Order: sequence, then structure tokens, then C-alpha cells
Amino acid sequence: SGGLRATFEARGYTAWDPTSPAFIKDEVLCIPTAFISYTGEALDKKTPLLRSQVALANQAKRVLALFGKKATSVITTVGPEQEYFLVKEEDFQKRPDLVLTGRTLFGCAPAKGQELEEHYFGAIRPTVNAFMKEVDDELWKLGVPAKTKHNEVAPAQHELAPIFEQGSLAIDDNLLAMEKLKLLATHHGLACLQHEKPFDYVNGSGKHNNWSVCADGKNLLEPGANPSENLQFLVFLAALIAAVDKHADLLRVSVSSAGNDHRLGANEAPPAIVSVFLGDELDEVVEGLINDEAVAAHGKTRMDLGVPMLPDVLQDTTDRNRTSPFAFTGNKFEFRMPGSAENLSDANTILNTAVAKELKQFVADVEGAADFECAAAAWVKKTLNDHRRVIFNGNGYSEAWEAEAARRGLPNRKCTPDAMVALKEEKNISLMEEFGVLTKTEMLSRYEVEMEHYSKIINIEARTMLKIASKQLIPAATSYMGEVASTAAAKTAAVEGISTKSEAKLLTALSKYTDEMSDATDALKAVTDKVSALDDETAKAHAFHDEVLPAMDTLRAAADAAEELVDEDYWPLPCYSRMLFYTE
Ligand code: ADP
Ligand code: MG
Repeated sequence: SGGLRATFEARGYTAWDPTSPAFIKDEVLCIPTAFISYTGEALDKKTPLLRSQVALANQAKRVLALFGKKATSVITTVGPEQEYFLVKEEDFQKRPDLVLTGRTLFGCAPAKGQELEEHYFGAIRPTVNAFMKEVDDELWKLGVPAKTKHNEVAPAQHELAPIFEQGSLAIDDNLLAMEKLKLLATHHGLACLQHEKPFDYVNGSGKHNNWSVCADGKNLLEPGANPSENLQFLVFLAALIAAVDKHADLLRVSVSSAGNDHRLGANEAPPAIVSVFLGDELDEVVEGLINDEAVAAHGKTRMDLGVPMLPDVLQDTTDRNRTSPFAFTGNKFEFRMPGSAENLSDANTILNTAVAKELKQFVADVEGAADFECAAAAWVKKTLNDHRRVIFNGNGYSEAWEAEAARRGLPNRKCTPDAMVALKEEKNISLMEEFGVLTKTEMLSRYEVEMEHYSKIINIEARTMLKIASKQLIPAATSYMGEVASTAAAKTAAVEGISTKSEAKLLTALSKYTDEMSDATDALKAVTDKVSALDDETAKAHAFHDEVLPAMDTLRAAADAAEELVDEDYWPLPCYSRMLFYTE
């Protein structure tokens, strides 16, 4: 409870969430619920999420009223794209690191990774196809609108995307989908990995949060044929840009975890810097507004493919940007930072509340103006101008952007312990309190919970490494050296003066790496014992990041070097190429 309750204080309450349909799973009636403590604090992720949806709906209705529209229902819409890996269950079982931590803590680079992209563009394998079909059937029975299925960039990586729904419902359904993906994989001799980074050397998995706001069935982020003249759209767009700029630190918190730290900023996922991609058309609109220049509507152009049998293709008014953390994709924003293991509630809670705040500000600024349209247009212009620093349409993976973002003053918090501090900052606490989404006490307890959780994850990973190194890898290297040494001795006994050069080379190198493994094991044990004994959760999480993670890296480097040399019949962990490139 992050200090909200003492260990012996156990009373809490659940309240049914009637907006999320109950369902029957394994012959048990399941009812989505909120969970609060005896003292009234939210202990779950659903309660603040629902509160944020109410806040956003209320403010959006006030904005729409100024445009002369009386909306009866305003909802956020969310479509989460779930990425995951599938490996053979027998390999999974032989990997204590995968079983206990969800990711491989050891494993040398495979000869081939994702560079040919033939998995991405290739056929779905029959076993995987059978699995995907069963997942669809089971999810549809539960009312989850599972739809798109495809292979992803990394070998053995796949994706499932549902049809978007009302935000909190989409999140409940995503949690159900994650559960079913894991469970049903076993029916096909597979294990479903949902960790953000199960394998080094190939991409990790994300969960893109496609997000929009919908009033009585109308998407408020639909720009229409001429966005520069669609004032209502521009108000929502400007509010969103301001929200992302002002609360980039909280959005960063919402996607921070020990697992996702391996993705963000590692040239495969958006960087830890939060920025907004608008695309050519909207960028022109924004620049035009800021500089008082007229902007012509684009309209889609036809592309003739030069083949009479093929239809013309309608070209969109803007390209897509796969490196942007927060990208406009035509009529919704795609928040691309969340990791595959994330519960998307935090991200949406923050997004909804931050946007509610800007919409409220809009109403306060223009309400009662003599000329509403004039005042609204001026507000849009000023807001866009104030927050244009967060707009970035270029390559988010480049080093140049990191430097440019620093010049623009955008935060770049690279690891979870650095990011979490935003939960304690006054600006953020007052945002959450203003809309009744989270109290200061709830925010501070969440900070404690997150920091403690981070430390626990790294502690488990470090101790799993120690066990694997001591009980499996060092013994494997030692036995193999024994065999090579006996072979060399036997050769020499059989043929006087025979060369034992290859055995000597191998023994010398392997002995060196085994010594390094042994030393690194001692060092990792010492530092993990020291850090896990710390009392203060802040100091502990930082120490796990600063001291334990590097010690884990050193041990892995020695073990991976040994793996390159040891006969694979001796090496107890299935290697990367075996796990990533199975054929059925
Ligand atoms: P891509 O991989 O090209 O980004 P996908 O089809 O995999 O596209 O995923 C897009 C997701 O966005 C789907 O879940 C889709 O239902 C969702 N989506 C579409 N329109 C909206 C909207 N207005 N609000 C929220 N989500 C949306
Ligand atoms: Mg997709």
C-alpha cells in the first residue's frame, strides 16, 4: 500500500464498475471492480482512471457548449496494440531466467537477428496461426473485440490489436487479452512472453495506446477536409499539445518500469523524451496559425501505380512517423511509449487529466468573450506558440534530437528511479488534486510502491543470475574444460608430440571467462546483498540502478563469452537462435 496502511490493517472495499461488462471465465462470474482501502484511498488503477474520464468528459462538454453543442456522452476511446513473443514451451522451461523474470538474463548474440525483416513480412507459421485463431475465439466469447493479428519486427514476435473501445473498457479487455494469450499459448506447446525486452539484440515489445475523444459518436480529433478552418478541432488539438508539454514528466512516469527501461531510448522504441508528431499537413496548419499565414487544404491525391489491373491509391495528406512517442495518425494520437507488460490505466489517467486541465483553462480564458470565435482562435494561436517546443516531426531515434530536445528544455529522464520523482512534484500533485483524480497521499504512496517494485524486480533478476551462474553455467564450463583437458591428455598419451593447440587455446580462453564469471558472481552477490539491505526506498531504487545493474552486465558479458566457446550439448540454457528461429 506504499505506506497507506500498516501491515496488520487489512480492511478494504471493492465496488462494481457497471461500465465494464461482467463476464464468465472458467465457469466463474467475474465482475470488474474498483478497489479502495478502509480509509478511502484508491489502491487500484481503475478508480483514478474512471475519475480522470469523468474529469475529461466534464471539461470537454463545457468546451462543446461554447461551440453551441450539447453533448450527452463524451468518452475517451482507446485501442491498445499488444506485442508479444512466442517461444517453444520446452525452451521456456529450460530457462529459469524466462520463468522467473520474463526475460533472458544470459545469451550470446545469435548469428542472425531481425536484419532481413523476413519475419515481419513473412507468413504466419501454422502453429502460431492456430494459436491466434484460438485466442480470437476465446476473446470473442468474452466480448473482447480482438481484430488485427500480425508478425512483428523481431523473429518470434507478434501483435494483437483490438477494435478500439471506451477507454477503461479497452484496458479491462487488454488485461483479459494478456491473460488469454499466456494461457492459450500452452495449448500449442508455446510460451507467450509479454516482457518489454525478453531478448537482447532484437526489438522489445510495446503496447501502443491509440487515443481519442468522442462526443455522441463523433470523433473530436477528426480534422475534417480543412483543418485550418476547423476551430473546434484546433482547440482540442492545442489543448492536447499543451497537456503533453506541461505533463511530459508524468506521462514518462506512466510508462516507467524496470522492463521498459530496456526499450525507451534504445533505438527501437521512442526515446525517453516526450514529443508530439503532427505530420506535414497539421504542421503547416500550426505554423500558419502561429505566423498568421493562410493555409490551403491539402486533399488526398491519387497515385497511379501504372498497372491497369490495380486500382489507384489515395495518398494520405501526411506520412507516418514510427519514432515519435506521441504521434498524430489521422484522427487519433498514438502514444507509443508504453511497454507490452504495462497496464495502460496510468497512461490514460494522466493523459485524460492533463487534457481536462487545458480544456478547463480554455473555457476560463474565452468564456464571456464578445467574439467567441476570435477569442478561441487567439487562444489556439497562443497555446500552440507557447508549446511548439514539444512538436517534433523528425527522427526521434537520432542523437541530434537528444541534443535538440535538451536545447528546447524538454525533460529526458532515462531510468525509472529518475522518472518517478515527478509523482512527488507540487505541480503534478496539484493537477491530480484539482480534478479529484488522486490525492497527495495517494500520489506519494504510488511513488513508494513504484520505487519498491522497481527494486524488487532488479533484486529478483540479480539473484536469478547468481543461481544460474553458480549452479548451471560455471559447472557447465568446468565440465567442458574437464572433457577438453582429458581429450588433450588422451591425445598426447596416444600419439607422442601430437598437437594439442586447439585444446590449449580453448582451455586458456574458457578458463579466463570462467574466472571472470566467478569473480563477477562474487561481486554481484556482494552488491545485491548490500543494496537490498537499504531501508529508504528512494536510495534503494537508485542503488539498484546505479550499482546492481552494471554488476549484472559484467556477469552476463563473461557468461556470454563463455557460451560462445562451450559445446552446446554442455550449455544448459537454450541459445537465442534456437528460441527465436523455430520452424513449425
Ligand atoms: P498500426 O499498427 O498501423 O498503428 P493497428 O491497426 O495495429 O495500426 O492499430 C490501431 C489501433 O488504433 C486499433 O486498435 C484501432 O482500433 C485503434 N483506433 C482507431 N481509431 C481510433 C480512435 N478514434 N480512438 C482510439 N483508437 C483508435
Ligand atoms: Mg499495429
